[in-house]
Amino acid sequence: MTNVFHRHCHTKLPCIASGEGVYLYDQAGKKYLDGCGGAAVSNLGHNASAVKKAIINQVETLPFAHTAFFTNESSEALATLLTDLAPDPLNHVYFVSGGSEAVESALKMARQYFVEIGETSKTQFIARRQSYHGNTLGALAVGGNEWRREKFRPLLADVHHISPCYAYRDQLEHESELAYSHRVADQLEAKILEVGADNIMAFVAEPVVGATAGALPATRGYFKRIREICDKYNVLLILDEVMCGIGRTGSFYAFEQEQIVPDLVTVAKGLGAGYQAIGAVVASDKIYNAIADGSGFFQHGHTFMAHPVACAAALATVNTIINEKLLETVVVQGQKLQAKLKEALSWLPYIGDIRGKGLFIGIELVADKVTKTPLSADSQANKVVKQIAMNNGLMCYPMSGTINGRDGHHILLAPPFIITDEQLDELVSKLKTSL
Ligand code: PMP
Repeated sequence: MTNVFHRHCHTKLPCIASGEGVYLYDQAGKKYLDGCGGAAVSNLGHNASAVKKAIINQVETLPFAHTAFFTNESSEALATLLTDLAPDPLNHVYFVSGGSEAVESALKMARQYFVEIGETSKTQFIARRQSYHGNTLGALAVGGNEWRREKFRPLLADVHHISPCYAYRDQLEHESELAYSHRVADQLEAKILEVGADNIMAFVAEPVVGATAGALPATRGYFKRIREICDKYNVLLILDEVMCGIGRTGSFYAFEQEQIVPDLVTVAKGLGAGYQAIGAVVASDKIYNAIADGSGFFQHGHTFMAHPVACAAALATVNTIINEKLLETVVVQGQKLQAKLKEALSWLPYIGDIRGKGLFIGIELVADKVTKTPLSADSQANKVVKQIAMNNGLMCYPMSGTINGRDGHHILLAPPFIITDEQLDELVSKLKTSL
């Protein structure tokens, strides 16, 4: 194990041996309840037979064919399914191998779209603080989590950041939800006017902010206003659903709950459910047609895109979610989990907020509940909670950087969709003990 260059150079990780349902087992035989799906990945749990069979079948018939030469049945069927599940005009799917690649591809698609239609001054992005869009240099540039970015400056893309929609901290006492939504969304218009609409190509946001803000949903009306502003200034709307998509929030695409349609949407993580590495950009007719009718060639691509085995695994995953009505399960189990967490944890002095959608739930830790003072980055609370939870046989996803991309800590829960009532109780009990 010592030759693997892990992200935490000095941390010794247990070696994992097997998995079944919502549980993982390490080589020493210790059992872990997967309370976060790894990182909102394992939505079908571990050892799902339908996905396993699809992978074996695909490997036996066709393990690989390069997309410069061939299309393949699994990727065609998966693209049809993903576009059938999306509203019009999201009718085109570009497959890649993960979330960062999906975001990079979407950023470059936006850029090439404006080149093809002759609006070449539109080269800059607007995104939000407290967001995460990936670790490659372009995706890192649109992300707004400072501690991930600071070592890599100067970043590659030209990006301006505005505030996220963060009712727990920013909504005023007597302000209605809609008034708050509009006040925050209107920052986008102000930024576009400041930089000049002729320079801005796209606004990038997660519908429910995951890793860097702890399952932070937007308030009602926020994304509708964002869509109106984007349309007014010919700015594309890119929604990053790498973490919150593929049913995690209770609808197949999280944006469905906002009654809007983006121009580009990225998905990954749960698409392959952890069985294969896969991501995708779902693009609208407008983007596709501009490229197809222009140069006819998207100047981008990866060796493993539309990989037959990855697509077969994703096809089986999505079919399982739809056929076994797991979107409904996510809504029901998600409501139960939030209620159980609130009952068990709300009284603790350092629990600031418990929020989320579906089985995508965030718990914000604070130094002071009344003043909502965030825990400082130096407190290391996220690392401590993670380690104690692991000792107690629970995987949860604690992160820092909720406030100003630096301070602030939260715990993200995103268990497999198949989690039972008893397992929800076990999760809450283990988390309570750990906290
Ligand atoms: N976007 C979002 C919203 C994410 O949560 C992540 C991963 N945490 C990424 C992009 C990057 O995905 P990957 O780690 O697969 O490159």
